[in-house]
Amino acid sequence: MNLFNLTGKVALVTGGNGGIGLAMAQGMAACGASIAIAGRNEAKAGSALASLRKLGARCVFITGDVVKKAACVKLVADTVAEFGRLDILVNNAGTSIRKFPQEYTEDEWHTVLDTNLTSAFLLSQAAYPQMKAVGGGKMINIGSMMSLFGAPYATPYASSKGGIVQMTRALATAWAKDNIQVNAVLPGWIDTDLTKRAREQVPGLEQRVEDRTPAGRWGVPADLSGIAAFLASSGSDFVTGAAIPVDGGYSVGM
Ligand code: NDP
Repeated sequence: MNLFNLTGKVALVTGGNGGIGLAMAQGMAACGASIAIAGRNEAKAGSALASLRKLGARCVFITGDVVKKAACVKLVADTVAEFGRLDILVNNAGTSIRKFPQEYTEDEWHTVLDTNLTSAFLLSQAAYPQMKAVGGGKMINIGSMMSLFGAPYATPYASSKGGIVQMTRALATAWAKDNIQVNAVLPGWIDTDLTKRAREQVPGLEQRVEDRTPAGRWGVPADLSGIAAFLASSGSDFVTGAAIPVDGGYSVGM
């Protein structure tokens, strides 16, 4: 018995061309899954694909801007056209705009909400019939510490990531009967392009995170590879609607 064997399974990972998404794709590829990574930046995708091929995975990059509904539908259709099925969806694409609440334009609010939350819903909707057709599936939504906490510079981001957790719970209850498990992962502070910008923009953030994290360090993308393999595999078949922190203890420390 191998609870974490993903041979024959197909995963679509939005934002899988870098950062946390790529590390999650690598975790699943190492367990045998075929991978479609989706995003906008083709240059980043080249090295991402090379790293997945090194793990022996069949993989493709599909270009798509997840703020557009048609693109979300097409990402799922293209994955199925390429690999013949879809078993695992990782809603990872995300962005943030850091300002005080009184400074946001309506467009900025929608950019963050559409990228982080609406896209995850539209992709899940598009993926549902494909997973149902193969007898079940796994959806993994990426939340954040901002699913749990607030910050003065993150009103739309925190709103979207709080929404991710509630959307996860609602979808989990709706689709459990179809053998589709829907879970959220809440990464702590992970060293990626996204948080590089945060560290530039928020004074003292780097040290504050290190001091507050019981593990005593920032996370690295590879810290998320294992949870992806777990939540994508039959080892998590009775886990649904959960929101699992992967944060070195950040959310439970004083
Ligand atoms: P990155 O900036 O490295 O990754 C974000 C990814 O999202 C990129 O690959 C990007 O692809 C993709 N993306 C963004 N907007 C779009 C879009 N409109 N259409 C398609 N793809 C898009 O940051 P992270 O790896 O850190 O972030 C990944 C996820 O993890 C996000 O949801 C983020 O909120 C979440 N997260 C990150 C934490 C951290 O500490 N790093 C902590 C908690 C949550 P492209 O470049 O091709 O546009």
